[in-house]
Amino acid sequence: MNRANNLDARFDKVQQDFYREIYGTKSQSARWKKCVDYVNNNMGMAVSALYVQEHFNSASKAKLHFESDKYFENVIGFLRNSTNKTQSKLYDEVDRDKWTVVPSVVNAHYHRYRNLMSFPAAVLQSPLFNKDYPNSLNYGAIGSIVGHELTHGFDSNGRHHDSNGNQRLWWHPNTIDRFIAKSQCMTNQYNNYTVRVMGEDHKINGILTLSEV
Ligand SMILES: [Zn+2]
Repeated sequence: MNRANNLDARFDKVQQDFYREIYGTKSQSARWKKCVDYVNNNMGMAVSALYVQEHFNSASKAKLHFESDKYFENVIGFLRNSTNKTQSKLYDEVDRDKWTVVPSVVNAHYHRYRNLMSFPAAVLQSPLFNKDYPNSLNYGAIGSIVGHELTHGFDSNGRHHDSNGNQRLWWHPNTIDRFIAKSQCMTNQYNNYTVRVMGEDHKINGILTLSEV
């Protein structure tokens, strides 16, 4: 298991050299940003407490024991705890109402396996949403994001999943044919583009541009 990200600057430097050779990356995000991301990604619910005081479950934090001068040991303790938690869920029924995105993330998502959209508390803030804005501004800002997420239910990935998120052909065959024919226009258009990366021209693969992932 790679724990280089959790070790000190010596390991960080070796890792940076490695990525420079492999991917050509010249710079990487600041140390503080990596630390904030790490805590937010792994303890998002605790970090989000300020956003959603009333929903914050202090019991989940109480189970963890952290010490301010033992970062690496804290990471290992956290990993042990989260592995136990994940394994204990193996025989439980799937909780379809469980949030997959923490409240402090400024983003929105569509989950095709559950056919649902997530709008965390942090994305429902100015300038994207404000209860005092005129409706026109809210529709134009958060409204366009809601529309974007909604279309994922019908895009080249989402169309394979039905209203319960199960993978099933639920479109009429004529609709599928027309969808594929129209997609071909986009594929053709993007096949004609080239992108210059580190002094070299690369042809875009139009098929890969059809969805976000
Ligand atoms: Zn999207």
